Amino acid sequence: MPTEGEDLIVPKKWYENLPRKSWERFEKIETGHTWFEVYILPHGVYAIYEPGQFQEVISYLAIGEEAAALIDTGYGMGDIKGLAEELTDLPITVITTHTHVDHIAQNHQFERVAVYDHPFARDNAERGRDHESVKGALDEGMVWKPLPPTFNPETWNIPPFNVTRWLKDGDIIDLGKRRLETYHIPGHSPDSICILDRTARYLWTGDIFYNAPIYLYSDTTDINDFISSYEKMVNLFPHYDRLLPGHNETHVGKEILARVLNAARNIRDGKGGEYREQHRQGTMIRRYDYEGFAIIVKAP
Ligand SMILES: [Zn+2]
Repeated sequence: MPTEGEDLIVPKKWYENLPRKSWERFEKIETGHTWFEVYILPHGVYAIYEPGQFQEVISYLAIGEEAAALIDTGYGMGDIKGLAEELTDLPITVITTHTHVDHIAQNHQFERVAVYDHPFARDNAERGRDHESVKGALDEGMVWKPLPPTFNPETWNIPPFNVTRWLKDGDIIDLGKRRLETYHIPGHSPDSICILDRTARYLWTGDIFYNAPIYLYSDTTDINDFISSYEKMVNLFPHYDRLLPGHNETHVGKEILARVLNAARNIRDGKGGEYREQHRQGTMIRRYDYEGFAIIVKAP
């Protein structure tokens, strides 16, 4: 039953629902980089939020005693390196949650970049993305905030970048009094990782979880991998309380992961309940809505 009218992925005037109320819980700080909204989270972490573009990407700067980690480098419209250097004097290592373009746009500017070792990631790092393949992110209705004057929408692309550390499952990045453990969680993309901080009791989820429709319909997604990765994250429940996702909202209670896992199992088994369908770029997608989240898959 294809749905007429509203797009199941990009709602009309999505930005009229901003700001999202959940951000009010945190102190917002002024910086010289107004494309980003910067919030102070507990335990020495800055959330770097890009509400001006539909994806509402969130990157994070985690401060240790000797070094800092920039978890993802955003979509490339603002100058995230300039911002990160305004926030800390410590040496910065980029940790990439996965190599989709909205998380790696400024990796090329950094000297130290850690990425999960997978052919998909090696290919993305080597090739980057040309203007043609990314320009859709700037289409009418996708951006509502003025773009920074330093950004050129006519030539914007994702440059290739050097990876200085290829991560394996379980690798640890030690920032001094802050140890970030990285675990392979394919499903959203084959090279996705989550990052566990047992002291702060945080889990960075990248795009395997965020408070918006979870995409499981593109070519790089896999529902069986997704389910195994959720099982892995649920098994780590004793070690964290809060999720720090790559889009929309942050500092989310971990319990929702168990509900997403249950829903994904039901969808795989043909018992996902009610859904809506829509043709999108040659693919029939199917959207399941649940309380507090939605999952979008390819129709069988
Ligand atoms: Zn993303």
